[in-house]
Amino acid sequence: MTPDDLKALVRTVPDFPAAGIQFRDITTLISHGEGFAACVRHLAGFAREGGAEAIAGMEARGFIFGAAVAVELGIGFVPVRKPGKLPVEVIGIDYALEYGADRLEMDPGAVTPGQRVVLVDDLIATGGTACAAASLLRRAGAVVDRAAFVVDLPDLGGATRLGRLDVAVDVVME
Ligand code: 5GP
Repeated sequence: MTPDDLKALVRTVPDFPAAGIQFRDITTLISHGEGFAACVRHLAGFAREGGAEAIAGMEARGFIFGAAVAVELGIGFVPVRKPGKLPVEVIGIDYALEYGADRLEMDPGAVTPGQRVVLVDDLIATGGTACAAASLLRRAGAVVDRAAFVVDLPDLGGATRLGRLDVAVDVVME
């Protein structure tokens, strides 16, 4: 499948979750077996090249792609979660959104010191979520220098903000 084929599988929903926002919905992409598999294979190839020893995915859509990439590579998956979800002592990071703030948490025992972890999420917009997840994983001892996304919204500058990370994307949506 070409990048244009994959792009055609992403549905744009106007005014979600708030008026004026164009939401890029991957539901239509993951319901297409060939499209879903092509995305996962591409993201997995990029992670493999970077010597990934584990994949971390951000709740919730990062779990869908991240877990599939981890299985494809035969390595473990680390969930980076919304607050209050994990049943153990966690480490967390607060980060700013365009309007407001959010928080991510993880089990610090989910990675080993020096383990190479590649981030996977469905979409990068401003890059705030990925930056926060990378900081959190590094605090837990992981080495994070690659991040892979299904959709990039380059107008929001996320990949630039991730400066020191190598970034791969399946679909660019202007
Ligand atoms: P960022 O932190 O880069 O500004 O936003 C990316 C995060 O918000 C990702 O975890 C992603 O799942 C979610 N997100 C923001 N906008 C969209 C969107 O239009 N479509 C989808 N599928 N996710 C979005």
